[in-house]
Amino acid sequence: MPLLETRALNKRFGGLHVTNNVDLVLETGEVHCLIGPNGAGKSTLFRLILGEHLPSSGSILFGGEDITAFKSFQRIRRGMSVKFQVPGIFKALSVRQNLEIAMQHHYEPATLAEEIDRLLAFLNLSGDARRLAGNLSHGQKQWLEIGMAISLKPRLLLLDEPTAGMSPEETHATGEMIKRLNADGMTVLAVEHDMAFVRQVADKVTVLHLGKVFAQGSIDDIVADEEVAAIYLGQTTAH
Ligand code: ADP
Ligand code: MG
Repeated sequence: MPLLETRALNKRFGGLHVTNNVDLVLETGEVHCLIGPNGAGKSTLFRLILGEHLPSSGSILFGGEDITAFKSFQRIRRGMSVKFQVPGIFKALSVRQNLEIAMQHHYEPATLAEEIDRLLAFLNLSGDARRLAGNLSHGQKQWLEIGMAISLKPRLLLLDEPTAGMSPEETHATGEMIKRLNADGMTVLAVEHDMAFVRQVADKVTVLHLGKVFAQGSIDDIVADEEVAAIYLGQTTAH
């Protein structure tokens, strides 16, 4: 059974048809990358999946359950988690305090510190636990965000441009994190424009264009597709 399925999903903002009959199937255990030019509707699709927007029509299934009318918190309770493009960390608190806030109500006090230590090591942030989050490098802030998103061990992790603004080295390290999470059983849907990263992590790629699924396949299929290349012409970056 797929972990996530959108069926004929539509979202209109006034006269703007931003999500157009999107059928997306995410198998349990896969890393699926969503690509497409600026304005293709990638972030909107994320917000629909997470319940921050309700669709104009169509449905969303998570673990076989119809969650179309569920609020975000109900989806999160069932195992969805997200890291958006916009940062959500508390800059005036330490790295450890940020993780404590995300995790304290979900772990016994006796195991909380241990869980945080494990997560810090995973994020390559063990040596930075006491630093203020606002003083981290850009890449480290992104990792802390990922840490907060995975701190409750979600079944599905949604990442909206996780490597935006990162150096190639940071991007590669982020890809390794995603692969380790995936090896531990997490299913991942990532909006991404860095093709080296997509090649590093993706089992499957979906291309969105003008709100529609334009192409789907392995990264090799997608890069060889001349029609996909054509929709990017004239655009140097996708947000
Ligand atoms: P992407 O993430 O692929 O760049 P978005 O999903 O952010 O694309 O946006 C797709 C289109 O939908 C854009 O034309 C954008 O202006 C429009 N859009 C997104 N959110 C809203 C909104 N809340 N109200 C009106 N239009 C929106
Ligand atoms: Mg976007």
